[in-house]
Amino acid sequence: MRSKADVVIIGGGVNGCSLAYGLAKKGLDVVVVEKKYLTSGATGACGAGIRQQWSTRENAELAINSVRIFEKLSKELGQDIEFRQGGYLIVVHDDDEMRQAERNVAMQRSLGLKVDILKPGEINDVVPILDVDGIGVVGATFCPTDGHANPFKTTFAYADAARRYGAEINTYTRVVGLKTKNREVNAVVTDKGVVKTSVVVNAAGVDSKAVAEMVGVNLPIVPFRKEIMATERLKPVFEAMVISFRDGVYFSQQREGQIVGGIPIPEERSGYRTMPTMSFMQHMARTITRYAPVLKHVNMLRHWTGFYDVTPDARPILGETNGVKGFIQCNGFSGHGFMLSPMVSKLLVDLIVDHKTPDVLLSLNLSRFKDKKIVRETSVVG
Ligand SMILES: Cc1cc2nc3c(=O)[nH]c(=O)nc-3n(C[C@H](O)[C@H](O)[C@H](O)COP(=O)(O)OP(=O)(O)OC[C@H]3O[C@@H](n4cnc5c(N)ncnc54)[C@H](O)[C@@H]3O)c2cc1C
Repeated sequence: MRSKADVVIIGGGVNGCSLAYGLAKKGLDVVVVEKKYLTSGATGACGAGIRQQWSTRENAELAINSVRIFEKLSKELGQDIEFRQGGYLIVVHDDDEMRQAERNVAMQRSLGLKVDILKPGEINDVVPILDVDGIGVVGATFCPTDGHANPFKTTFAYADAARRYGAEINTYTRVVGLKTKNREVNAVVTDKGVVKTSVVVNAAGVDSKAVAEMVGVNLPIVPFRKEIMATERLKPVFEAMVISFRDGVYFSQQREGQIVGGIPIPEERSGYRTMPTMSFMQHMARTITRYAPVLKHVNMLRHWTGFYDVTPDARPILGETNGVKGFIQCNGFSGHGFMLSPMVSKLLVDLIVDHKTPDVLLSLNLSRFKDKKIVRETSVVG
């Protein structure tokens, strides 16, 4: 392992690897330290949906700009990341939800996003198998440029490209300490050696809180266990991701034909329990077959758990940490860090290389939890 670097990134998920690529491409000497294998954290467990329909301006902006990057990413990285745009259909169940949906859509359109409000009679044009009367809807919103990519292929494509630009990626290497001098970062201690550096990025997902504690920084991140399932393959029937904020459910059909989806379960607790539960399977099966009764004939093949790194306002923590120079946060994605990764890494590259701090970075800084009235993201599922 190198003994010094311009930047050390802790975590080999999609965010750590995309940032490694962006920084190495700019000519910086980058070292990534991953305690297991690439994608072993939330990235390898995720649904990998890509949605621009958010309630907060920051998330919408990050996602819209990320989609612009995703559209060209396979070509840029030289590998197919299986990005496709089948849209996201968000069902709206009552008048209160519709008022919120209208506010969201107005904000999203002000950012240039093409998003429509559908009447109940138009929903089956997008997803023919939905039982519109059975679910009880007053409408839906639909953005045709939302979509999906393969989280493994995306992360490995970023990592390969980062290596081509000279980044060193160390797997099965755990960060056990951070060294500071005069409240400035100056080294990362791993179980395989020490790397001197003046910039450390904390992209350790749900473990980011533990990493920050190594220098006495408290991140307001709570791990939430989530479950997700995949069915057997069936012929292509719909392209859009279907979600409901009221029921918390999301599901879409993958390119290979299986349906992948998740839902919170009544016994959901914060913490690190990894065992999948029967109650998830039952709740998911009941809900998805209420949404699309034809799926009663389809078998669930497997289901697994992963963790959301949840912040009090369900928005990420990005940028430099007050009081510890050179310590950059890239965490707290609260269940939507895959879709934001292209733009998040661009912003952090601009911060690290050119010291740029645009408004979006200022408003997502850790300091917001101390100084400011926080604005909660409400468009959350899973
Ligand atoms: C069930 C589920 C469904 C999801 N669906 C979506 C979705 O549809 N769309 C979306 O955008 N997002 C989704 N997410 C969220 C998304 O997966 C995450 O926000 C995103 O993958 C976070 O990536 P990351 O690189 O920040 O963190 P991670 O992928 O968690 O990577 C962090 C890495 O840090 C490593 N690490 C931790 N501590 C140390 C240490 N001390 N030393 C070295 N390495 C360390 C870990 O091993 C891990 O590999 C979902 C998440 C789950 C669990």
